Amino acid sequence: MKPLRGTKDILPDEIIVWQYVYSIAYEILTLYNYKEIRTPLLENTILFNRSIGNYTDIVNKEMYSFLDQGERNISLRPEGTASIARAFISNKLYLRKKINRLWYLGAMFRYERPQKGRQRQFHQLGIECIGSPNPIADVEVIRLATKILKALKCLEYKLEINSIGNIEERNLYQTQLINYLNKYKYELDISSQNQLKTNPLRILDSKNSKTQEILWEGPKLKDFLKSKSLDHFNEICNHLNSLNISYEINEYLVRGLDYYNYTAFEIKEQSLGSQNTICGGGRYDQLIQQLGGPKTPSVGWAIGIERLVIITQNQLKIQQDNKKIYIAVQIQSNKIRNQIWDIIKTLEELKINFELDLSHSSLHKQIKQANQISAKICFIIGEEEIKNEYITVKWLQTGTQQKIKLNKLKNYLIYLKNGI
Ligand code: ATP
Ligand code: MG
Repeated sequence: MKPLRGTKDILPDEIIVWQYVYSIAYEILTLYNYKEIRTPLLENTILFNRSIGNYTDIVNKEMYSFLDQGERNISLRPEGTASIARAFISNKLYLRKKINRLWYLGAMFRYERPQKGRQRQFHQLGIECIGSPNPIADVEVIRLATKILKALKCLEYKLEINSIGNIEERNLYQTQLINYLNKYKYELDISSQNQLKTNPLRILDSKNSKTQEILWEGPKLKDFLKSKSLDHFNEICNHLNSLNISYEINEYLVRGLDYYNYTAFEIKEQSLGSQNTICGGGRYDQLIQQLGGPKTPSVGWAIGIERLVIITQNQLKIQQDNKKIYIAVQIQSNKIRNQIWDIIKTLEELKINFELDLSHSSLHKQIKQANQISAKICFIIGEEEIKNEYITVKWLQTGTQQKIKLNKLKNYLIYLKNGI
């Protein structure tokens, strides 16, 4: 049986890259005092309707929603920010700290057409800096995204940034945009024609060249921004300049989620091909209040882990910690099994990686198995060894064999430990 379309098993060879991603994220984010949070995969559907927005693609077409046995409307989370805003409110995190810096790594679910870098169950690493309207918070989160990407050898990235203003500014602009685009309605691509009624700002993001041509001549969002929005944006740009973080201002960048204001940004990775957006984020000053919490300006981003893993895997040859010692067993008598456990306890105590043979096959086959898992050393424990209180140590690369007395084994291993 195969996994569901758009989902996949992540096998041990790939997991080492995931563990590496987790450890790098943990290290960098901990330095900046971000704390990990894990929220449920299931939420009330209404949370996403009220935050992401009913007319966004995510809520409109991509959610995995169902009625549970208690007739509740439940959805698998399609992204992390809404759940974190909900957790922030329901756990009253605002009572503990003025600024809550949080991060998460977990599975998200969207009913999309699966292709390379696009799945129905995928994973995001995300951060949220909750509680500050300061543009430096925007810079902090952007800088963290670039630091994590760099550390994971994602080096050909391009940061695009835009200011999408506040709701009043956007509403004014939206009216003008609709008036303008209505004149060219039938020249727009079909999806933009539909968005004209439901989510006109998303048209700015259209990849259709005719639609783009029409937009070039149309009203510009930045002309509707007042000084507060512009100052916020300029301040961010100034910081990025002095940090030498290169960016491009993309006036057409609008995110597919309704809750953003002021800052919106995306990071694209050239080497990824068509699904090349690796990180998306922005400021969301109203979201928490809108969900019933106190007014809490915030900013954050999410990185798609599957897309990141493709790059990290190619760039970094992360070595699996090879099994260092294979324990080949050639004994019949049950009485002496305890001695095997004594040897294992010594290995545990010294934290030496090992694998115990379970096959009861011939010594030849067991040594073959030891080679297959790239063990350096094979311990051979047979009747003869146990009777005379020693084990045979076979170095697999050279074939050299040594007899080591059991009472000397620990010292021998301490001596060897760094060399294996
Ligand atoms: P895209 O334009 O690629 O659909 P998006 O704007 O829908 O991205 P966000 O909601 O901002 O994406 O999510 C942030 C990141 O999560 C994306 O940049 C991408 O790396 C990743 N991502 C989003 N959807 C998927 C998916 N279906 N499969 C794998 N990764 C995804
Ligand atoms: Mg999408």
